[in-house]
Amino acid sequence: MGDLRLEMALSLLSQAGWVPPSGMSPGSRLWLQSVIDGLCDLSSRDALTGLANRRQFEAAIAREVDRVARIGEPALLLIADIDHFKNVNDRFGHAAGDMVIQSVAACLQDCVRPMDLVARLGGEEFAIILPNCPPAFGQTVAERIRNRVRACPVAIIGGQQLSVTVSIGGAFAPQWVRSSAMLWSERADQQLYRAKTEGRNRTCLDMPPLTVVSAEEKGLLFGSLAQSDPFSASGTTSDLPKTTE
Ligand code: GH3
Ligand code: MG
Ligand code: MG
Repeated sequence: MGDLRLEMALSLLSQAGWVPPSGMSPGSRLWLQSVIDGLCDLSSRDALTGLANRRQFEAAIAREVDRVARIGEPALLLIADIDHFKNVNDRFGHAAGDMVIQSVAACLQDCVRPMDLVARLGGEEFAIILPNCPPAFGQTVAERIRNRVRACPVAIIGGQQLSVTVSIGGAFAPQWVRSSAMLWSERADQQLYRAKTEGRNRTCLDMPPLTVVSAEEKGLLFGSLAQSDPFSASGTTSDLPKTTE
């Protein structure tokens, strides 16, 4: 352990506010584990906001795509971008711009559930992964987030208060099918583009298509089951997906 070069790692960690765990002797296995944990945390967070960074976001969205394909639970991806943010930098300076990014980040983090992941993708663009979000709630959730940002003034240096808005694009992950994180992100991005071109300070969602199963497919899927199940004599279809005859 003595030949490990840890100076840089320890200096980065202490710069980020990491304190060595008390009661552990430096160089012990437990101490080393906590240094590794600290480095992992550091490499998955955005330095300006403390949110998940793009690296952590990419790992999380890949896991979520896989989960939705296996379990079929609906999941929503939102991408939020601050409107006319360049104007903030130009009029009030880069430091004020940074404060706006930090404030919007805190606001986003504040209005989601603990299970949701909020990440800063870069610049003034954020992503939110919302697992287990029924499509019927998608628009409400996105609008709640947009309204919270709008209603949250940012105090900048000099006692001034700024208000900013975000445009939000969203898409649901395709359920029960193998897909890719890239396709999911692209669909959310297209909706963000739409929100920007339609005037900003708005939310646009790509809703999942209703699952429509033809009568023929239904027969193939459930026919043999229905015949062998004595309780299905009435042929009720109330639990089946929506059908087209
Ligand atoms: P739109 O409504 O179309 O999104 O316009 P916008 O002005 O928000 O977008 P644009 O892409 O034109 O400008 C984004 C600006 O954000 C440009 C860049 O200099 C600035 N920026 C990127 N990262 C940071 C950062 O970390 N801090 C600050 N203060 N500014 C940043
Ligand atoms: Mg912007
Ligand atoms: Mg942007």
